[in-house]
Amino acid sequence: MQRMTNIFNQRKGFLWKSPFLLGIVWMTMLIIFWVQPLNAQRDDLERFLPPLHPHPLPLTLVEWRDSKDSGDYFDQISLSPAGYLIWSKFPIKFYLDRPTNLNDLAVASTRRFRQWVDAVMEAISEWQDFLPLLEVKDPQLADIVIERTEPPLDASFDSETRQLKIPRARSAQTSYNFYLTQDSPPILRHRMTIKISPSLSQSSILSASRHELGHGLGIWGHSDQKTDALYFSQVRSLSPISVRDVNTLKKIYQQPTRLGWKLP
Ligand SMILES: [Zn+2]
Repeated sequence: MQRMTNIFNQRKGFLWKSPFLLGIVWMTMLIIFWVQPLNAQRDDLERFLPPLHPHPLPLTLVEWRDSKDSGDYFDQISLSPAGYLIWSKFPIKFYLDRPTNLNDLAVASTRRFRQWVDAVMEAISEWQDFLPLLEVKDPQLADIVIERTEPPLDASFDSETRQLKIPRARSAQTSYNFYLTQDSPPILRHRMTIKISPSLSQSSILSASRHELGHGLGIWGHSDQKTDALYFSQVRSLSPISVRDVNTLKKIYQQPTRLGWKLP
């Protein structure tokens, strides 16, 4: 599951002076918004954000070879307003929820927590072969924050039926947001938050973390093949990280992005 948060909301204020002016302003607004909303947005991005530029390919992906030409699902990857969601500082730092009360090892809830941690760590070590990851103890310093929590239900209102649409409960979810560093000039960076339900079975925690970590590392899209870890639907059988998953990851990391570059 993926979720996007957009920081590029713009607000504009208007000053209404007279009905005549109001009419003129309305007409102009209609023309502007009809004719060039996309161009204007693009111009704003170009003006305020770092230009699109590729980063050097991490060594782990330089060394990746697929001798059988298994293909990829790169055409299913969506772009964020900042371009591809590529990490450029390695190792990528992650924070993982861990049980705090270690004296309670015999307690069932602590034991379940530890099993959850073990399964997530297994998924992390699988991705380690392709991109270097390092655990940090402070979530503020992390690029990827992994939380042991129930993902929220994003209910929406259907204006036609006038009813609240409540989606099926999710077992895991990844979202991202952007921020600027304290450097001068500031650097545009992103942060990923992965929520993985505590109530899953051990094997489901592993497959859900593997899938969500794929999103967290930049695969912002889904495969239509069951044998890929980023298959769009939850299946019972565990799909390990496939050759196609890594081919897709490598192609993403060869693309330009605004992330990790200085503001103009
Ligand atoms: Zn997904």
